[in-house]
Amino acid sequence: MATMIEVEDMITVGALAERLSLPVTQVITVLMKNGILATVNEKIDFDTAQIITGELGLEDIELVRKSSAVEEAPVRQKFVSTDPNAEARPPVVAVMGHVDHGKTSLLDAIRSANVVKGEAGGITQHISAYKIMHGDRGITFLDTPGHEAFAALREHGAMLTDLVIIVVAADDGIKPQTLEAIRFARKAGVKMLVAITKIDKPASDINRIKQQLSEAELMPEEWGGDTVILGVSAKTGEGLKELLDMVLLIADVEELKAVFKAPATGLIIESHMETGRGAVAEALVEQGTLKPGDFVVAGGTYAKVRNLESTTGGILKEATPSTPVVITGFKALPEFGDAFEVVKSEKEARAAASGEGASRKSGAGTLEMSSNELIRLINRSNQLQELNIIVKADVQGSLTSVIDSLKTLDNAEVAVRIVGSGVGAITENDMHMAHTSKAIIYGFDVTLPANVKQIASRDKVSVRMYKVIYELIDDVKAELTSMLAPEVIETPLGRLVVKGIFKTTKTEVICGGEVTKGKLTYPALARVMRDKEEIAEVEVTMLKRGPVEAKEVQEGEMCGMTFVSKARVDIAEGDHIEFFTRELKTRSL
Ligand code: GDP
Repeated sequence: MATMIEVEDMITVGALAERLSLPVTQVITVLMKNGILATVNEKIDFDTAQIITGELGLEDIELVRKSSAVEEAPVRQKFVSTDPNAEARPPVVAVMGHVDHGKTSLLDAIRSANVVKGEAGGITQHISAYKIMHGDRGITFLDTPGHEAFAALREHGAMLTDLVIIVVAADDGIKPQTLEAIRFARKAGVKMLVAITKIDKPASDINRIKQQLSEAELMPEEWGGDTVILGVSAKTGEGLKELLDMVLLIADVEELKAVFKAPATGLIIESHMETGRGAVAEALVEQGTLKPGDFVVAGGTYAKVRNLESTTGGILKEATPSTPVVITGFKALPEFGDAFEVVKSEKEARAAASGEGASRKSGAGTLEMSSNELIRLINRSNQLQELNIIVKADVQGSLTSVIDSLKTLDNAEVAVRIVGSGVGAITENDMHMAHTSKAIIYGFDVTLPANVKQIASRDKVSVRMYKVIYELIDDVKAELTSMLAPEVIETPLGRLVVKGIFKTTKTEVICGGEVTKGKLTYPALARVMRDKEEIAEVEVTMLKRGPVEAKEVQEGEMCGMTFVSKARVDIAEGDHIEFFTRELKTRSL
C-alpha cells in the first residue's frame, strides 16, 4: 500500500525534501539531473514534485494534491462544448509510454499511411501535432514527448487531449514510465486506450501484459473491465486500422464537439524562429474556424495570417476545430501554452497584444518557471538542451565554415541551434531576433554599427565579435559546456558500526560505534544501512573521540558522532553508517 503524502500546488524544494524524509541535496540533485536548477527555497509545481518523487525511486509514496480538485474541470468544459450550435470535431490524441516501446514508430507508421501524399516534402522542422484522415474522418495526433508536456500545459490552464494511447511493448511489459503515463492520464481525467506494440516479435506475451494492466487497475474488456486493449505492429502495419477505428469510436462515445462557425480560439503548441520566416508558431484550433487574413493575438504578440499551412507542409483554406496549423508573421515569438484568439482588425490585435503582454508579465511570477524553461522541460525527452545563436560573417565562405564547425560541437545532451545567419554587418533585425529567441549573436569579421550596439545594451542581447574562427568556436563550446548538467561524484569515506545510541530527537541522533572500514571525517553525508538496505541519508555534523572533537577517525577506532536528518531516524545497534562526500562537477564537452 502506498503512503499518501499531501503536497501543495507549488512547494519549495526544502519542504518537499522534508515531506519525503530525504536530504534536500538528494532532491536538488535529481532536479538538476532533470534540467531544473532550483535552490532550497525555490518552488516547484506539483507535477514536477511527482515526477521527481518517481525518479527518486520512491515507489511506495504517492503524492496527492493538497488543494481542492477543481483544476481541470473548467478547461475541459471549454473544450467539450455544450453550445447548441456545436458540431462533432476530430479527437485530439496523445501517445505515451515507456521509452523504446515504439511511440515514435507507431506515430510514424500512422502518419506515413494516412497523411495526404505530396505534403511530406515540406517538413523541415520537428512538428508537434498533425492531423490524419482515417476514411473521411480526421484524427489529430499530438507528438507529445512525454508527460512533461501535459504538466506544462496544465500549468497554463489548458488540457489539450481527449484520449491517450498508452503504449506497451509486447516483449517488455509495463515499466515505471508506463505506470506514470497511466497515472497521469487518470489524474487528468483523459480516456485511455492501450496499444500493445511490437506484436510481430516472437517474444510477445500478451496475457502477462493484460495481467499487469489489471494490476494497474486497467481491467481488460475481455476480463470484464472497460479498458480497450489492441495489439499493433508499426513494422507490419497489423492492427493500425483497428486502432484508428477504436479511437474514432471512443470519440463518438465522448461526443466531442466544438462550434465551427465562430472566430477561432486555441492554443500555441510550439514556436521557434526560422531564418527567412521569422517567428513561426504551431497552433491547435479548439473552437471556431481560422482563415487566411485573420488577425491572431497570442500572448503579448499578434500576426496577420497570410497563408494557412498544415503542420505537414500543405496549404489549408481554413482550419476548423482540432486542426493544428502553422502561423507565420508574428511580431515576436508567442510562447508555448499561450492561448490565441482571432480579433476583427489589426488595431484591435495591437491593443489586445499590448494588454496581454502586460498581464502575462504580471502573471508570470505565479508560474515560477518561464515558458522557456517549460519548453526545455518538454524537449527534455530527447535529453537535448539547445543554445540559440545567430551567426553573421563577412562573406558566404566564412559563414559556411563557421556553421559547419559549430555543427560538430553537438552531442546527445547539448546542441547549437542556429536561429539566424547571414552575410554582412549586424543589424537591428538580428537584435530583434536574438531578443525574442534569447539567442547570442556571433559576428565573424563584421561590424556592429553604433545604433545597433545601443539596442544590444538596451535589450541585453549578448553580441560577441571575433576575427579568428577557432576563438569563436571555443566561445560557443564554453557556452555549451556551461549547459551540461554537472556530474555527481560520490566518494566513500568509511563505515561505522553502531554500538550505542545516546540521544535521538526528530532531527538529530547522537550515537557511537566502531570504524570498520576507511576513515571518517566530517562534515560529510552518510547513509544509514540496515541489512544492506538504506534507511536514511543524513548529514554528519560532529565526530568525537571520547569527549574530544575529532577531525578524523581511523579504521579500528571507536568514536561518537552526531548526525542530522529531515525526519526521525530510528537508529539501532548493529546499523552501518556509510560516510561519503558528494560533489557536483562541471563536465567538459
Ligand atoms: P519510442 O522511444 O517509444 O518512441 O520507441 P521507438 O519508436 O523509437 O522504437 C524503439 C525501437 O523499437 C526501435 O528500434 C524500433 O525499430 C522498434 N520498434 C518499434 N515498433 C516496433 C514494432 O512494431 N515491431 C518491431 N519489431 N520493432 C518495433
